[in-house]
Amino acid sequence: MFTVLKGYFLRLYPTDNQKELINKTIGCTRFIYNRFLDEKIKDYKTSGKSKSCYDQIKELPGLCKEYPWLSEVDSCSLRTALFNLDDAYKRFFKKQNEFPKFKNKDVGNSYKTNNIKNTYKNKNYESIKLDFQNKVITLPKLKEVKFRGYRNKTSLIGNVKSAVIRRQAGKYYVSVLVEEPLLLPEFTPRSIVGLDLGIKDLIITSYNEKIENSLKSQNVQKRINGLQKGLARCKPGSKNRYKIKLKIQRAYMKLKNIRKHLIHDITKKLVKENDIIVMEDLDIKNMYQTHSIAKSLTNIPLAEIKRVLEYKCKWQNKKLFTIDRYYPSSQICSGCGYQNKKLKDLSIREWECPKCGRVHDRDVNASINIMFEGLKMYMQSLVI
Ligand SMILES: [Zn+2]
Repeated sequence: MFTVLKGYFLRLYPTDNQKELINKTIGCTRFIYNRFLDEKIKDYKTSGKSKSCYDQIKELPGLCKEYPWLSEVDSCSLRTALFNLDDAYKRFFKKQNEFPKFKNKDVGNSYKTNNIKNTYKNKNYESIKLDFQNKVITLPKLKEVKFRGYRNKTSLIGNVKSAVIRRQAGKYYVSVLVEEPLLLPEFTPRSIVGLDLGIKDLIITSYNEKIENSLKSQNVQKRINGLQKGLARCKPGSKNRYKIKLKIQRAYMKLKNIRKHLIHDITKKLVKENDIIVMEDLDIKNMYQTHSIAKSLTNIPLAEIKRVLEYKCKWQNKKLFTIDRYYPSSQICSGCGYQNKKLKDLSIREWECPKCGRVHDRDVNASINIMFEGLKMYMQSLVI
């Protein structure tokens, strides 16, 4: 049987005691992370070597004796902090990340804990339990915490793997990772769509549908800009500054949520209406390096759309094909196949084919070509 990893993002409603314990745990994991990062740096300077993650974990019980407050929090979260540190190091050596930074109070307001299962007197115990019926999640040391979200879901089928507890702008959240069985519907190819990822519109489909980036018309960015100006005027350390900072954090979260929902809405519709989806391969590295794209808050990352499309297609047994990004989809006439090399100029939005006389909208024509390329790939996959 196939399984998939699904994430559930829930708003937590902890009691005051639980809040205190969450804050403490965040503090303890930060302490562990920073302490061992410092040790790693020093060891490396003196001997050119540093301890493995497992050697560090062995030191945890000793540390808990030295600092008894460490024993008050979920011990799994401390181990996970060391795994995270190890991960950050590995990424650095693979040149995926900058050198790991020390965590301060502003960032790293979260901790991760794994679901630990054991059997005692023929009874199975799990350290994390997610109960959609009663809307409570059981977490190590915190016990039952109320949550809200997924109103229509009443039961969970699958295994909880881990949970990340997060404090953000004064609110508490948990993301729970669950391994769920995947029941694939039968694949019946009835419809196909080509997607051109645009500059003006976000996506143009081969059905001549234009999906706009509605984030650009929202006022959140303006609000953030205004708040940031206000922040610059505040005295460092003042109460007002703190208040504005909190407001900025909330506005960012709102923007992030709007973006997330938009991506889900767009991809949900595409996957629901089509059995085969074809898109261009993305030059992700290039896309992130372009500053204007990475920096603008109201942009929707196409790479994220692709990622979501990929897993939604997988879960619903639809096919997603990506075609070579060097395929000249916007230069070829979708009517007769003539290649018009003059179209390299991106400012040309409409053109007439010199061979057959058809008039094309640049992006719609491109998406039709992309659809045909995908159809070719699908037909080939049937032959092999
Ligand atoms: Zn033509």
